Amino acid sequence: MKKILFTTLALILLGALIGVFAFINADKLIDRYIEGQSEGITFRTDVMEGDAMRLITIGTSAPLPSDRNQSCNVVIANGQLLVFDIGRGTAQAIERIRLPQPLIEAVFITHWHSDHFVDLPQLINRSWQLGRKHPLPVFGPEPIDTILRGINAMLSKEQQFRQEVHGVSIMDVSEASVITQEIHISGDQSKVVYDKGGVRVTAFEVDHHPVSPALGYRIDYQGKSIVISGDTRRSENLATHAKGADILVHEAMQMDFIRRAAQLQKESGEERNAIMLEGMAEYHSSPMDAAEVAQRAGVKKLILSHLAPVPENPISRRFFTKGMDEVYSGPILLAEDGDIFIIKLNKAK
Ligand SMILES: [Zn+2]
Ligand SMILES: [Zn+2]
Repeated sequence: MKKILFTTLALILLGALIGVFAFINADKLIDRYIEGQSEGITFRTDVMEGDAMRLITIGTSAPLPSDRNQSCNVVIANGQLLVFDIGRGTAQAIERIRLPQPLIEAVFITHWHSDHFVDLPQLINRSWQLGRKHPLPVFGPEPIDTILRGINAMLSKEQQFRQEVHGVSIMDVSEASVITQEIHISGDQSKVVYDKGGVRVTAFEVDHHPVSPALGYRIDYQGKSIVISGDTRRSENLATHAKGADILVHEAMQMDFIRRAAQLQKESGEERNAIMLEGMAEYHSSPMDAAEVAQRAGVKKLILSHLAPVPENPISRRFFTKGMDEVYSGPILLAEDGDIFIIKLNKAK
């Protein structure tokens, strides 16, 4: 009994001491809090260093229920920040990890499914509010012109208000705009759509029929390369354009899970859900499809993304990649939101 009384008194005394300390140092604590908060609006510079090509997997989930962000990959090379797709949650994620948005050189959209572009208005707007001083080029298949006109119309009033409040020297509406870059290719064609300071982006078609055109992108810099599949069934054209890449980011859905989930939905009378799940399985890749493409292309590393279901524990991760190592001999990774992959550049001789 005495022991309990003593402990209680000691805790009360400690609480009181903390209270007095906090009261005396309130201003200092508030300053510390403000400093901590304002760190969030300074940009990180480590990822921009020129010694490497970097891939950041900002969003890694497919459009099934998940806490993860939807599709988005950032590639940084020679101080250029390039964004590939911008699905739900990814504009905020880019901000949260303090990527220098004013330095975004261009955005590339693979296809017009919302899990690949729904955060585009937010990225356009926030990169401008945070200091972008150039119109932002946005590349993608048709009808990009119509879609960007809609986004510009949606943002125009808000941008006017910002300029009025902060002044034209801080937020100039003319710098908020986008430059539409429509990509036309078909079949096994490919096209260099971006070429700046030695960083080259090539677009090529993948097979996401009936969603057409659907594009994949290859980014080359100083003999190193990253390939992003976009959404696709197993695609021979992707294997051709991924030849010898250092990293292939390939979409993957665990088809056994998707089909079983569809069956369970059907059995419980959820016919609509079952049809939607079966439909998804029709125009995406399984992990084994990705492994076969990676092997054919001879890529150095395979990263699976656009994951469904999102494998969140060792058992589901094992289930997801089961049998892949019998098909593809290189390293296989399951991407997570915010992973950074670094490809060191060869030193100049
Ligand atoms: Zn899609
Ligand atoms: Zn998708």
